[in-house]
This record gives sequence, structure tokens and C-alpha cells, in this order.
Amino acid sequence: MSHPTKPRIALIAHDKKKDDMIVLAAEYIDFLRGCQLMATGTTGARLIKELGLAVERKESGPFGGDLQIGAALVEGQIDAVVFLRDPMTPQPHEPDINALVRACDVHNVACATNLSTAHLLLSQLRLAAA
Ligand code: PGA
Repeated sequence: MSHPTKPRIALIAHDKKKDDMIVLAAEYIDFLRGCQLMATGTTGARLIKELGLAVERKESGPFGGDLQIGAALVEGQIDAVVFLRDPMTPQPHEPDINALVRACDVHNVACATNLSTAHLLLSQLRLAAA
């Protein structure tokens, strides 16, 4: 991963994982303030309101936000994705979720889909940016 400027990170959390995302982002807040952040609608709204982060908000996930982030990723605008998925709840936009994760694999973009990998990813990116 090369970061010519700020790391560009996409943050997405399903409803039951949004509290986890807020706690996670709070833990990395100093690093994330120096990143270019993109998020799906509701996740982004919470990051802005509760943590004061500057976030480019896309549509809400079920309305195509995951696809918009996937498109940005395909265009080379995303360096890493933190996607806290809820594996226990059926999602109406399952195909969109799979498309985003697939786009990460196609383009070899790091994608963390649970808290453990999210910590590994963010701590490594923070180290690389220091
Ligand atoms: P949201 O979308 O942040 O708008 O809730 C996330 C998702 O459900 O994929």
C-alpha cells in the first residue's frame, strides 16, 4: 500500500455493529483525523456527529452506498476498507455487500470485516503513516 498523501479509508458498519465502529474510531481518532474518510450514510452521520470526524458520506448502504464506495475503490480512490458486517442478520443489500468485498479482492485493497482485523489494519496503517 502506498500513501502519497493521506490514507484514504472507507468505514461501513451494519446497524448492530455501529456502536462498535464508534468505539473503534474513537480509539484511532488522532490517526483518523489525518485520513481522508468515506462512509456509508448512517455510519458516516454517526462518525461526524459523535466524533466530529470529517467524512465524505455516500448513500446509506441499502440505498447503494456500498456500491458507491465500491466504485470509488475501483477508481483507485480507496486504500483500505473497514466494513463491520453483521453476520447474524439478513441484509436486503447482500449482493451490494458481496460486490464491495469482491472489489476489494479484485483490486487487492485491504478489507477488515470484523473488529480483530480492523484493529490490525488501523494499527498498521497508523504505524505506516507515523
Ligand atoms: P449505513 O449503511 O451506514 O447507511 O447504515 C451500511 C450498510 O448497511 O451497508
